[in-house]
Amino acid sequence: MASKKMRFNTKVIHAGIEPDPATGAVMTPIYQTSTYHQEAPGVNKGFEYSRSSNPTRKVLEDNLAALENGKHAFTFGSGMAATDAILRILKSGDELVSTNDLYGGSYRLFTKLYSKFNINFKFVSMAEMEKVEDAISEQTKMLWVESPTNPTLNIIDIEAAAKLAKKHNLILVVDNTFASPYLQNPLDLGADVVMHSITKYLGGHSDVLMGALICNDDKLAEDIGFVQKSSGAVPGPQDCFLVLRGIKTLHLRMERHCENGAAIAKWLKAHPKVGFVNWPGFEEHPNHRIAKAQMRDFGGMLSFSLKGNSKEDAFKLMSSFELFSLAESLGGVESLICHPASMTHASLSKEDREKAGIPDSLIRLSVGVEDVNDLIEDLEQALNKV
Ligand SMILES: *Cc1c(COP(=O)(O)O)cnc(C)c1O
Repeated sequence: MASKKMRFNTKVIHAGIEPDPATGAVMTPIYQTSTYHQEAPGVNKGFEYSRSSNPTRKVLEDNLAALENGKHAFTFGSGMAATDAILRILKSGDELVSTNDLYGGSYRLFTKLYSKFNINFKFVSMAEMEKVEDAISEQTKMLWVESPTNPTLNIIDIEAAAKLAKKHNLILVVDNTFASPYLQNPLDLGADVVMHSITKYLGGHSDVLMGALICNDDKLAEDIGFVQKSSGAVPGPQDCFLVLRGIKTLHLRMERHCENGAAIAKWLKAHPKVGFVNWPGFEEHPNHRIAKAQMRDFGGMLSFSLKGNSKEDAFKLMSSFELFSLAESLGGVESLICHPASMTHASLSKEDREKAGIPDSLIRLSVGVEDVNDLIEDLEQALNKV
């Protein structure tokens, strides 16, 4: 069955996945091998050495390509390794224009590692795409978008970014980690490359670190494939198996993440101790209209502040939870909380954090797939303690 004809909820289970040709095994086997027998030099079954290609990884990559409506997918040992791989197609003197509220790890990779190689980075607010054009110069080669953003849940108009990229002949990369391919398909909106931290929703069980790049263009795929093979930050077959297993329930998990996220966002908004709630599903969210147009639903990520904005209250709250677990990361079946001001955004000054919409009392939730009544009861008892 051609993957293009399948609907999303079928693709997660079947796209790129056939019974194992050697044994008929229904589940993709873990090909724990570094190398492959050749009949004669160069005569092989399509695999030579696992840095270039591995059968378990190949099935996962074909599946990921289908989920993002792309032709080519490449996996890496982490989301950051995927980001690193796409940056390697740039050369000294090139410039990248990025949203100013991007993932902290990407910001670190750009400014601390790649700026050493004379690649320049400009960070701009992408809330209004017209203003982004002012940042583009002759040297600009890549546009970097993330939507929704962390932890403020801003929404960036991907279609508008794609128009701008086309006009100036830039490669548009979209970090689609927060949305997952269930909620949003950037290639359909005109992006050139989709980047994923598979560690989050795609893996979905907080047990694997992995990243991916997906694209349609054959030349771009050749370049990315060359980087993957040459620098070799590839995932192992066990991890590929775990992700294939996780993806089979992506649609079910995402449905529940969205349902629980919506219920909790609305409940928090009505709570007397809560200040504001960031969630793109609210009509008054500044880019609600774009979120509605480019996403299938609003996701399970949200953040909220406390009235009075006391850091002490936020800390008390975070240590009062029984179900929500205080931890980095997101997108797993279990609900997590984190405190951006002291965790992900600690390197910014308090003033810069406030400018970026991250007050000291801001708490980010990755709403899991537990019974939503248990989650709300946990929030209620914790809020009662502050
Ligand atoms: C986690 C994350 C990354 C980095 O991925 P790793 O798998 O942790 O290396 C990149 N972008 C976003 C939005 C993330 O949440």
